[in-house]
Amino acid sequence: MGNLTLAIIKPDALGARHQGKIIDRILEAGFEIQAARIIKMSKSQAEGFYQVHQGRPFFKELTTFMSSGLCMPLVLRKENAVAEFRNLIGATDPQEAAPGTIRKDFATSVGENAVHGSDSDENAEKEVAFFFATEDILANL
Ligand code: ADP
Ligand code: MG
Repeated sequence: MGNLTLAIIKPDALGARHQGKIIDRILEAGFEIQAARIIKMSKSQAEGFYQVHQGRPFFKELTTFMSSGLCMPLVLRKENAVAEFRNLIGATDPQEAAPGTIRKDFATSVGENAVHGSDSDENAEKEVAFFFATEDILANL
């Protein structure tokens, strides 16, 4: 059980100016922000990040959306971070997300669902490294 996960506040949420409210939820839930960036991904960066979904019917829509505007990758620290953050964000489809979750309150559709969260410790490590250098992460300073 690791204590880091990779979150992304997605372009729909930044476009709606919801990033402050989403960061409040993250902090209230007891996560520490260990690193943060504001970036605009290129199409090929988005394709690289979501490589595991290549071949899925929504791959083009997903990578077009994720490269359509600004997003905020965050490295979050908490005990059991991956599972705890998945609980905080809720189901992929906001219609199935539990009340009080970030996706329930801020996502507009299954595609434009406000936030990303890593799904395993192994993927969290890879995803953190995709956006951040070792020295960008507070715990490593
Ligand atoms: P999660 O982000 O909850 O881990 P997945 O890893 O299954 O979900 O999918 C990655 C992302 O792809 C989702 O967060 C969402 O933005 C998009 N996505 C997933 N399923 C669909 C779908 N059926 N239609 C459109 N976009 C989708
Ligand atoms: Mg996933």
